[in-house]
Amino acid sequence: MERSDALIELQDVDLTIARLDRQLSEMPEKRAILEARKRIDDITSLSDRTDSFVKRVEGEISRLEDDVAMQNAKLQTEQAKLLSGKIVNPREAQAISLELDGLRRRKEKTESEILDEMEKREKALEQREKIDQAIEAARAKEAELVEGFKGKGGSLQEEIERLTARRAVLVEALDPDTVGRYERLRAEKSGVAVGLLRAGTCRACRMELPADVADELLSGPDVAECPLCHRILVVASNAHPEE
Ligand SMILES: [Zn+2]
Repeated sequence: MERSDALIELQDVDLTIARLDRQLSEMPEKRAILEARKRIDDITSLSDRTDSFVKRVEGEISRLEDDVAMQNAKLQTEQAKLLSGKIVNPREAQAISLELDGLRRRKEKTESEILDEMEKREKALEQREKIDQAIEAARAKEAELVEGFKGKGGSLQEEIERLTARRAVLVEALDPDTVGRYERLRAEKSGVAVGLLRAGTCRACRMELPADVADELLSGPDVAECPLCHRILVVASNAHPEE
């Protein structure tokens, strides 16, 4: 392979790999996947918060139920006292009746608190169900996006691998000094290290060379240096004959 042809192809390959890399990292599918994962995280954290709320409410219900059980036990004790026939003093009997009234009122209040808490739990569980559905939908969406990314990103990846293998062949075909010069210029000049001389103009810097300089270059070796941008200048190439 001619040095001039290898250099031109090497530059084409490198520019294409850079473009594909950029495409891969800027794929809208990739951004969408990240967004979907963020959404799943957000919903999961909402779900965790709902769970701990339900747990708290259930703790409160069980505490109130214990209260009711205690209130019932006390009511039974006081009622049994009243019905035992042992209380003969009317004032004592009245005191017990008042105590029973107070106990019943407290019990009613506790029971209504239980109903309130149960309602809270009911609402939280309904919300929990909606959250579960939302998580399921978000996961399905994520899987769909990942599948799409694999398809499109996979073919980009394959193309990058093919070009990387081709690059190795081209580098092998060139002498190390030329490759070193190419790499240095590529790093310095935004990836474009090689210009093609066409109609007296360097295709890399797009500057027209003085006619005598161009003529001199054309009569010299196939690979030279652009006197204006100092890139590698391919003067003549079999693969890229003068159009
Ligand atoms: Zn130039």
